[in-house]
Amino acid sequence: MATGQHCVESPSVLLRLEGVEKVYALGDGVEVRALRGVSMEVRAGEFVAVMGASGSGKSTLMNLLGCLDRPTAGTYQLEGRDVSGLSRNELAEVRNRTMGFVFQSFNLLSRTSAKENVELPLLYAGIATKERRERARAALERVGLADRANHHPNQLSGGQQQRVAIARALVNNPRILLADEPTGNLDSRTSVEIMALFQDLGRSGITVLLVTHEADIAAFATRVVMMRDGRVVDDRTQLPLAAVPGPVQNDDAAGTGGAQ
Ligand code: ADP
Ligand code: MG
Repeated sequence: MATGQHCVESPSVLLRLEGVEKVYALGDGVEVRALRGVSMEVRAGEFVAVMGASGSGKSTLMNLLGCLDRPTAGTYQLEGRDVSGLSRNELAEVRNRTMGFVFQSFNLLSRTSAKENVELPLLYAGIATKERRERARAALERVGLADRANHHPNQLSGGQQQRVAIARALVNNPRILLADEPTGNLDSRTSVEIMALFQDLGRSGITVLLVTHEADIAAFATRVVMMRDGRVVDDRTQLPLAAVPGPVQNDDAAGTGGAQ
């Protein structure tokens, strides 16, 4: 069945959780059982929206999937390798090679240009200047911001700032993009633009895992996982809505149709 000429490993399951639990110990014997036995598989190229009420365990799940933390019990296999027992340094290595992260608050350095923000992970990785510049430029191009490379965050709209943050997440060529409420600070039209970008990335083979509490946003994913009290209570694939941003609204601009 596997006809992909470039695939040397199984093209199907990218990550697999089995009976994953996460208990936070708060001291004095007080514990929070944030995940209570989560089992799921995600295939390469899926675009998964994780939904659920506040406190249901979404961020805890994302932290485990992103190798930022380890499960208390159960196993996590990433690309066929059990990563649940790795040391912090080993996890960091897997994370840097495999994951890109996007946050609700963008987390850009404010006194630094878009280009330099995107270069930052490469700087940490010890990549030489010339390659850093080229890769940062390519990543900014991929998110449609090549012409804003020298702008600082305060010279960019919220949607543009989030796109810079996505370029930064892409610059290490991750297979998996994890985004916790990436549209939480954006208006609805800009949110749709960001979802269109995620859909594009999904088509290029990147697996996107996104947390959102908005059903309107989850509609753009190929799969919706619903959490409640640390458990997956619903998990379904769907035909995603095509993310096509509507005309510019005039919420914060005088005049009509003034896009820029
Ligand atoms: P969500 O992202 O769905 O709002 P979280 O995964 O952040 O949920 O939290 C799940 C539960 O775990 C909550 O009860 C929360 O208070 C608790 N929790 C999350 N992180 C920690 C932590 N570092 N230490 C202790 N408890 C935590
Ligand atoms: Mg959360």
